Amino acid sequence: MPPPRLLLVLILLAVASPAPAAAPAPKVPGQSYFGTARHVEYLAGDLPLVITVPHGGRAQPADLPPRQKGVTVMDANTQELARDLVAELERLSGGRVHVIFSHLHRSRLDPNREIVEAANGHPGAEQVWREFHAAIEGALAAAVARHGFAFLVDLHGHAHPVARLELGYALAGPQLNRSDAAFDASGVIGLSTLADLHARRGGSAADLIRGPRSLGSLLAAGGLPATPSGPDPQPGDQPFFAGGYIVQRHAAAAETRKVDGLQIECPRPGVRDTPENRARFGRITAPVLLEFLREHYGFAPAR
Ligand SMILES: [Zn+2]
Repeated sequence: MPPPRLLLVLILLAVASPAPAAAPAPKVPGQSYFGTARHVEYLAGDLPLVITVPHGGRAQPADLPPRQKGVTVMDANTQELARDLVAELERLSGGRVHVIFSHLHRSRLDPNREIVEAANGHPGAEQVWREFHAAIEGALAAAVARHGFAFLVDLHGHAHPVARLELGYALAGPQLNRSDAAFDASGVIGLSTLADLHARRGGSAADLIRGPRSLGSLLAAGGLPATPSGPDPQPGDQPFFAGGYIVQRHAAAAETRKVDGLQIECPRPGVRDTPENRARFGRITAPVLLEFLREHYGFAPAR
């Protein structure tokens, strides 16, 4: 027992020491959290799936000037498409998907570009861009903490002549327009959005992206033509989106260990155009994604 005076000093020190900083409250799955002026919406989840929708926003606030460079056309109906996909994923799994929406029109902000092209030098737009990417990082970190991995799906719409899904693994057309043997030998899978999965799984990289159990083949079998896939293994000489800033930064970069994913570019006819076709996309794509996670990551949903 210390002498009384020392005891008093110890008690005073204990009382005077600052309380530990309060940790941020955990996000509630199924609840939305908004950034500045509600331009970014983060719908919190508890599944390992994170879906981003950067080009479906419609808001054109007067305090954010139109961007002067780059593409400013929105990906029509991709927010609605994402909501249908999320509803089906949640119905099948019993869990909640992490979703990040930009509600700004692409003429005000393009979150799928590095900050200079994205925000056109406007501080307000730059702030929203930072919030969008911080929300992705937070969602991916929450998924990794809970499941040991995360899978990012960045959802877009294209207007290319061929109405097929374009699956962007951060691999460009010329890289995919190789034979399976040449593709495997090239080693480019190590730079792709499936780099972590392939490093863990080994085997043929071509099989992973266009073999019978690939996402493209499963989607095509369900009735959504896609490239790369078994039936349509190479983009060929058609225009093709390889995967943009979001998947490059958050799923393909060397430091994104435990995060895989892809960009899904959807045609308008047959996929984005009508409520029926958007619902059909969800009904086909949701079980495919869950099957891919079960097979490759051992993920078993609660339901
Ligand atoms: Zn887009």
